[in-house]
Amino acid sequence: LTYKVNCGYVDLRDVQGVLVSFEDISQAEAIGQMRRDFVANVSHELRTPLTALIGFIETLQGPAAEDAKARDRFLSIMGDEASRMNRLVSDLLSLSQVEAEARLRPSQNVDLGHLLAETVEGLSPVADAANVTVDWHLPDQPVTMPGDSDQLRQIFTNLIENAIKYGGRDNTVTLQLSESPRDPVLRQAGVRVDVIDRGPGIEAVHLPRLTERFYRIDSHRSREMGGTGLGLAIVKHIVNRHRGRFKIQSTPGEGSTFSVLLPMEG
Ligand code: ADP
Repeated sequence: LTYKVNCGYVDLRDVQGVLVSFEDISQAEAIGQMRRDFVANVSHELRTPLTALIGFIETLQGPAAEDAKARDRFLSIMGDEASRMNRLVSDLLSLSQVEAEARLRPSQNVDLGHLLAETVEGLSPVADAANVTVDWHLPDQPVTMPGDSDQLRQIFTNLIENAIKYGGRDNTVTLQLSESPRDPVLRQAGVRVDVIDRGPGIEAVHLPRLTERFYRIDSHRSREMGGTGLGLAIVKHIVNRHRGRFKIQSTPGEGSTFSVLLPMEG
């Protein structure tokens, strides 16, 4: 706990003395620290690709400019680094947008089966490149709910892309969409989407921290796969904005299940 101590003289007609008050500023301190950490993380994440870009520009201004093979290789790495910065900036913008809109009520009527189909189709190049099959389990009837379709698409894109990336090559990712007329957790009708992979799984110690901004289990691997470390933080914010719940279950050596539970009545 952090306290701010305020002292002052009191000089009223019949009372004279010293007034000391204690103000609990722990929460303000914690928010200030989180803000400083966030700025430090963003600066670090942007500086890494920028340093690489500056290095390659200097190399290309030197003798490497004459070597066509080296030049092409450097330009391709520079392209990758620039794309990484681009992804980071778009994820930061998404995060600040969902945070800013946290109090607005999402109001479109969204057909979740249709949205999931579109999302999987959009990710088919990523799945094909890793030789991953996406398996479906959808109810016969359409499942609709009030929400923001762009943001809901972002939830499923992030989760399915992670399942493909971290689940490993030549594997299967399973998507399950189900409805419960009265969900015990939401205490109203709910819809649930499970994204299941059979990858290496996640040690229990990491689970509570996965939705923190920039938290990664293996930073090198995440960066290599084009990750920004913001995907699950964005998912958590969007789910909260829709007044839903987000749950991660994992068994090391067997795989992980990322579940999103959303209220059907808004
Ligand atoms: P990133 O951009 O690094 O993928 P995320 O916020 O999406 O960031 O995920 C945070 C971390 O959680 C990842 O770096 C990875 O270590 C871990 N992770 C996410 N999804 C999975 C998964 N399906 N299987 C194993 N680990 C995962």
